[in-house]
Amino acid sequence: MTFISDLFINGRWTPGATDSRFPVINPADGSLLASFAAADEIDCDAAVEAAAAALPAWSATPPRERGEILRRAFEILTEEKEQLAETIVLENGKSYADALGEANYAIEFFRWFAEEAVRIRGDFRLSPSGDKHIVVTHQPIGVSLLVTPWNFPAAMATRKIAPALAAGCTVILKPARETPLTATHVVDALRRAGVPDGVVNLVTPVPTGPAIARMLHHPDVRKLSFTGSTEVGRILLHEAADNVVSASMELGGNAPFVILPGADLDAAVDGALVAKMRNGGSACTAANRFYVHSSLAEDFAHRMATELEEWSVGPGIDRENKLGALVSVHERDKVAELVDAAVAAGAFVVTGGNSSEHGAFYSPTVLSGVSHESPIARTEIFGPVTSVIEYDDVDDAVRMANDTIYGLIAYVYGESAPALAVAQRLDAGMVAVNRAVLSDPAAPFGGMKQSGLGREGSSEGILEFLEEKYIGIDL
Ligand code: NAD
Repeated sequence: MTFISDLFINGRWTPGATDSRFPVINPADGSLLASFAAADEIDCDAAVEAAAAALPAWSATPPRERGEILRRAFEILTEEKEQLAETIVLENGKSYADALGEANYAIEFFRWFAEEAVRIRGDFRLSPSGDKHIVVTHQPIGVSLLVTPWNFPAAMATRKIAPALAAGCTVILKPARETPLTATHVVDALRRAGVPDGVVNLVTPVPTGPAIARMLHHPDVRKLSFTGSTEVGRILLHEAADNVVSASMELGGNAPFVILPGADLDAAVDGALVAKMRNGGSACTAANRFYVHSSLAEDFAHRMATELEEWSVGPGIDRENKLGALVSVHERDKVAELVDAAVAAGAFVVTGGNSSEHGAFYSPTVLSGVSHESPIARTEIFGPVTSVIEYDDVDDAVRMANDTIYGLIAYVYGESAPALAVAQRLDAGMVAVNRAVLSDPAAPFGGMKQSGLGREGSSEGILEFLEEKYIGIDL
């Protein structure tokens, strides 16, 4: 396969101001996929300046026209979705089925926000005293810096680019260094769809931190939309504070999966397999801790293990494999360390617990007898490990589920009324009741507590890229 491995600045693919490049590695076999252009300060400044220069014309472009360009990008990528999925597999490691699922989800943001571009509403009313008319309008917030992670390299980019462009903003995308090839495919589709020069730019600075900080201190940058870890999110919030740059943050998670007494265990196992194993567990939405009522815990762990022992593990490019590689050997070793520490603290390996000799693979794993206090229950695992924690009292399950700095998503399985009652008590921006997948471009995605600020997707997603303006009128 051929990839675009350059920067995109002011409507042109460019190697950038220096000859410096960095490797993009296939985690399934360690092979080199591409040498990607490393941006420096000159490139980042050029990207911001191009975005600033393009802003007046793009924000004045009729919403219908902006929407039609997004719609064309949707159509182009729909034609190319298998190729996009293969690029995701090659640089991220996930299975082909997961990559195709991501490609479909990612592309859908262009269709959704093509439709939202023409539905930006305001308000017009008489003030209570009758002294004036209150007009509320929206205007694009301005040049937006979009920083995305490696775990959903297509969807995390389109979930930001689409609402930003629909709102009339111009953008600089900074994809993760592990997965820039998916991002170049998406950006090139936008170029081919007719996005004017400077409206979308892509840079991959090395080192990352100082370049992002520099862009956040540029007076023209008015928006940061970040998806990534809570640790990096905190650093960027500090950087954004100096120029009071508006920040939307989609950060880490530690999702509880609560199985209530009386739950349908078949449904819970089916749901757990998806909520845990989608993307090989490398998802902010991945179920991280399974609180299972003691009447069901042993059966649940056994059935999960029996199912997972049937899974074929290997390179995602082979479409038969249900579980692909983790993004790097480093990530695989982090998962192995968490499992080893849990076992040392008394957890029992029902199945799995092995790292591959070659490539960044980790076997599907089930641990029972995990302590709620153990690091594996306190940290995002980001790997295919099911940690089962037993409880007797539902109040304890709710207390433990909420006992975390995170609040992105939670899952509950049980009879409808008790499951809904527990859903109301969970501190999470999203709760899945008797289902395993919530992500939908039409629904607001985002977290409470240290899982983030703001929402993506839905009609809320576009508001993150708009300023509300109040005009008072004496008629
Ligand atoms: P990360 O925080 O390490 O990196 C995210 C992005 O920030 C990358 O582009 C990276 O290059 C950049 N970055 C890293 N250090 C930086 C710095 N000092 N200054 C500026 N930018 C910097 O995250 P990751 O490892 O790529 O992704 C995994 C994390 O992302 C997990 O915590 C996961 O939960 C989270 N995530 C959250 C969501 C969500 O919607 N809430 C979605 C996907 C992933």
